[in-house]
Amino acid sequence: MLIVMNSKATKSNIDNILDFLTKKNLKADISDDENKVVIRVKGKNSLDTREIELFAGVSDVIKISSRFLQSTRTYKPEDTIIDVKGVKFGGDNVGLIAGPCAVESYEQLDNIACALSQVGIKVLRGGTFKPRTSPYAFQGLGEEGLKILREVGDKYGMAVISEMTDASQIELFEEYVDIIQVGARNMHNYHLLKVLSKSRKPIVLKRGLASTVDELLMSAEYLLLGGNNQVILCERGIRTFEKATRNTLDLGCIPVIKNLSHLPIIVDPSHSTGLRMAVVPMGRAAIMAGCDGLIIEVHNSPETALCDGAQSLYIEQYKQLYEDIKQIAPVIGKKIN
Ligand code: PEP
Ligand code: MN
Repeated sequence: MLIVMNSKATKSNIDNILDFLTKKNLKADISDDENKVVIRVKGKNSLDTREIELFAGVSDVIKISSRFLQSTRTYKPEDTIIDVKGVKFGGDNVGLIAGPCAVESYEQLDNIACALSQVGIKVLRGGTFKPRTSPYAFQGLGEEGLKILREVGDKYGMAVISEMTDASQIELFEEYVDIIQVGARNMHNYHLLKVLSKSRKPIVLKRGLASTVDELLMSAEYLLLGGNNQVILCERGIRTFEKATRNTLDLGCIPVIKNLSHLPIIVDPSHSTGLRMAVVPMGRAAIMAGCDGLIIEVHNSPETALCDGAQSLYIEQYKQLYEDIKQIAPVIGKKIN
């Protein structure tokens, strides 16, 4: 942090700030350059710029702490590539995840996984602890769902991903899944993130419904700081005034995040649009925008799905999207692996 004093600042103004920093156990040095005194606060700190701005004699407070953040390219310039049983996310790879919103039964998941594995999909999604807006809606099969997910995944040689909604579920998720998903509603659940930072499973961290890119990266920071560097970010749409789609897919965040961070970012065109007819076009657009993969809801019978049927693709639609991605990805130097 740099504290820039104004030209009228007195020695006692400067001493007051230095005393304050000392009380916070922070070290600082001072440069006095052409009537402008700049105090440089050394090392990592969690100072609130507003606290400093209130001191007499201060003209500007500049936070430069972002260079300490582990998610940034300043910290690690090269792309992080996350390998889940041979499927890579990051670099020039497009990693694909597909499956139903929720695991409903063995037969349902077996049917979908069989079709998807024939398409070439190697990572199967399936919600088991569902965070639903209405408490009356299907809440997921819980542990039973995780067992089905693991069994079906193993049957078709697929890695599996499911959303963990509470820190108390960690042992179950360590046992049954290959990737742990943090849902949009839990992006700000810092206790959950701290628990997951101690796991060695890759994490798909979804952007919160009303979260900025900076906040998403700060949540990723919790995982990295605790020692889990296998973080895949996920843009899943944000809430805006627009009602024509379920959320507004912020494709602009992809180049922005790729510029700021070395972490892979995938896109969820299902929850961001909420409309089956919009999933394929936005999936294709996300690939063109440079994302590192897609997570998409697919169902064998969307009409009878217990959750998110209206945004779930038919298998045939997904097959076509897969063919499209095979053609689109090389245009921007990427490949499905
Ligand atoms: C999901 O992927 O099942 C889900 C609930 O997504 P989100 O957290 O993005 O709403
Ligand atoms: Mn869903």
